Amino acid sequence: MASFKALVVESGDPYQAGIRQVEEEELPQGEVLIDVAYSSLNYKDGLAITGAGKVIRSFPLAPGIDLAGTVRESASPQYSPGDPVLLTGWGTGEIHWGGLSQRNRVRAEWLVPLPQGISLWQAMAIGTAGFTAMLSVMALEEHGLSREHETLVTGAAGGVGSLAVALLARLGYRVVASTGRAQEAEYLRSLGAGEILERAVLSAPAKPLESERFGGAVDTVGGAILAGVLPRMARGGSVAACGNAGGARFETTVFPFILRGVNLLGIDSNFCPQPRRALAWQRLARDLPLNLLDSMTQTVPLEAVPQLAQQILQGQVRGRVVVDLQ
Ligand code: NDP
Repeated sequence: MASFKALVVESGDPYQAGIRQVEEEELPQGEVLIDVAYSSLNYKDGLAITGAGKVIRSFPLAPGIDLAGTVRESASPQYSPGDPVLLTGWGTGEIHWGGLSQRNRVRAEWLVPLPQGISLWQAMAIGTAGFTAMLSVMALEEHGLSREHETLVTGAAGGVGSLAVALLARLGYRVVASTGRAQEAEYLRSLGAGEILERAVLSAPAKPLESERFGGAVDTVGGAILAGVLPRMARGGSVAACGNAGGARFETTVFPFILRGVNLLGIDSNFCPQPRRALAWQRLARDLPLNLLDSMTQTVPLEAVPQLAQQILQGQVRGRVVVDLQ
């Protein structure tokens, strides 16, 4: 392959993106050249591909915050040609050439060796979404998540949400899945949700303290939904705040924090340090029911990505999207 195919955002103003052939010389510096087998589509990729958010900060650049593939050339003693690897975050698809490209050159320190028992496709069905769901669960566990109360997942039918529901249910928590899509109730139950909570319940104006219900929450939505989650947390409960699909700003009171000792835990998958990254991927290999990935994932060619990027921003994509680049 002298040249290869990639989705490239050529400029930000005017915004211009399309699929084209790329020469290897256009790739950035880095120790490891990778034949990318799969990438995935995340909410942030939707922002980058459509230009709806200022995600990409140097042009031209391939978007795509995730990739999985095989090492083609390596100047690092850590990796050899043929090694299967995955990469999520570290600014990939934002400030560094991204995963929506059949080939990429990256820094060795960003890579994670493909965990035992996980295929390249499964790694991307999990992707940043599953990694973030795992980091959220780990943060809740570290703050004493108990099985006494129910655990809430918001934006449950989305990528992070679906994986959080599946993980928490497998770990034995009673999962309440909040969604704006009533038609996905059966899907969410098939992932392990015990109860479906209409999104509107959480977005309606809440009292500073409502009845104590949830021992933990993974919030992928932010905004008014997060404001509705905090007053419903049980004493000592924690919210892992990992998303803003429903808005960035929210208004709340201090009462959940000072009267019930509720913890608000921030989750950043992008620059998560390598040891915690490795731990999270080991946990995913162990704790995620991999058979559920099939029902929550659609696999598409690169050509389908621009349209799906619009749809993910409108909350219309269920579960995960894997992009086949082979
Ligand atoms: P998805 O689009 O797959 O999921 C988002 C879900 O949020 C939707 O499926 C929908 O769920 C719900 N939603 C969407 N729009 C609204 C709205 N206006 N009001 C209320 N709910 C809404 O995205 P991802 O799973 O990829 O990402 C989810 C969020 O997490 C994003 O904000 C993303 O940027 C963030 N994220 C953060 C990471 C981190 O490191 N902190 C890493 C990865 C993602 P439903 O239909 O069930 O209601």
